[in-house]
Amino acid sequence: MKFRRRDFVKSLPAGAVLAPVYARTPFVKAGDNYDVAVIGAGVFGAWIAYRLRQSGQKVVILDAYGAANNRASSGGESRVIRMGYGGDEIYARWSLRSLALWQEFFQKIGQPLFHRTGVLWMAREQDAYSVKSVETLQKVGVRFEKLTRPELEKRYPQITFGPITWGILETESGALMARRAVQALVQEAIRSGVDYLPEAVVTPTGKGRLARVTMRGGATLSAGSFVFACGPWLPKVFPDLLKERIHPTRQEVFFFGAAPGDRRFAPPAMPVWADFGDEIYGIPDLENRGFKIAFDRHGPAFDPDTGARRATAEGEAAARKYLARRFPGLKDAPLLEARVCQYENTSNGDFLIDRHPALDNVWLVGGGSGHGFKHGPAMGEYVTARIIEGGAIEPRFTLATKGKAQKRTVY
Ligand SMILES: Cc1cc2nc3c(=O)[nH]c(=O)nc-3n(C[C@H](O)[C@H](O)[C@H](O)COP(=O)(O)OP(=O)(O)OC[C@H]3O[C@@H](n4cnc5c(N)ncnc54)[C@H](O)[C@@H]3O)c2cc1C
Repeated sequence: MKFRRRDFVKSLPAGAVLAPVYARTPFVKAGDNYDVAVIGAGVFGAWIAYRLRQSGQKVVILDAYGAANNRASSGGESRVIRMGYGGDEIYARWSLRSLALWQEFFQKIGQPLFHRTGVLWMAREQDAYSVKSVETLQKVGVRFEKLTRPELEKRYPQITFGPITWGILETESGALMARRAVQALVQEAIRSGVDYLPEAVVTPTGKGRLARVTMRGGATLSAGSFVFACGPWLPKVFPDLLKERIHPTRQEVFFFGAAPGDRRFAPPAMPVWADFGDEIYGIPDLENRGFKIAFDRHGPAFDPDTGARRATAEGEAAARKYLARRFPGLKDAPLLEARVCQYENTSNGDFLIDRHPALDNVWLVGGGSGHGFKHGPAMGEYVTARIIEGGAIEPRFTLATKGKAQKRTVY
């Protein structure tokens, strides 16, 4: 059975958040054959579909729950974009390239979805990661300032620095309005000719060349290549291959509210910040949503379909304890919102970009590992080039380098 208009109409969820997207989506006609079908409209899938289309490919993008939906890793309010990656030059370069492409895209669509708040790294005396970051930032050509403790105190009197002895301020970096950015990108992709289907694709089987994928309702869709950019669902879609190689973990995020008229925790007074030693980071009050704070350490295993998304009292208490220490002006701040999202971790935090070992024209893309969002544009370019031009895949991204035991090295 091929995919038909009536299947599409039946599958529309009531009160779909992306109603304007549906309204403008051309229906997929029986017999339509695509160059590439992208499964997953999170940040990776959306940028891949958009880039492929810009390269002249006939593209369809499918998503089981909708672009940047509330379960997706890309469905959060905001995401940090920073270039500091310790000695991991590859990600510093990808991030730098991505920032330029995000800004170009937001300018094109006339929506200011990037906030150049600056990113402040709070470092301890013998902080090897920060020392390495300084070297890499210099090498890659990123603008930053190195701040001494007195300079930090002068510039940010609302922060109690405790053991922090120095800092790095990335002046061009900041935060992306994640959910809205991905949804805008999918809309722009559709406007440029990409088809969009709100459908769940089932696990492909067989060997050699995959001719078509099947959707939950039984309809099929054919394409020359298939990109599975299913984020934390990848181990469910490919259990034999990825169940032990991608680990979705439960992550809590809290938004606290400053006192009336207190702008010390919003830009320009407050940048995005990261306290690597305490494995915690935050985003200042953007667009009046509140001061966001989250621990970067991995939580327990999590199911992206059914996992309960109510934050714990322990998580809130831990965030408050940190606030009281580092941001005393927010010690008794009310909690405005709490969210539960999931990281999709590879063994060490390197992305997964590779062909399926048994299906020649199937690509596996994901493993954002808590740091992937910012890299969407570079990911789009990279995967588009591999599909169209071929060429070897960076060894760090291959399936062969993905171990089964968790040993994080990329932050
Ligand atoms: C709390 C939190 C904070 C983070 N902070 C940052 C940050 O500050 N900076 C940063 O760069 N990164 C950050 N990240 C990481 C980043 O958000 C993720 O790496 C990135 O969003 C992953 O995108 P994705 O496209 O791979 O997956 P997703 O966004 O999850 O998209 C996958 C999509 O695939 C769809 N799908 C799944 N299975 C199927 C199927 N069978 N058929 C059809 N569709 C399917 C899903 O519905 C989903 O929409 C953070 C993540 C979390 C959870």
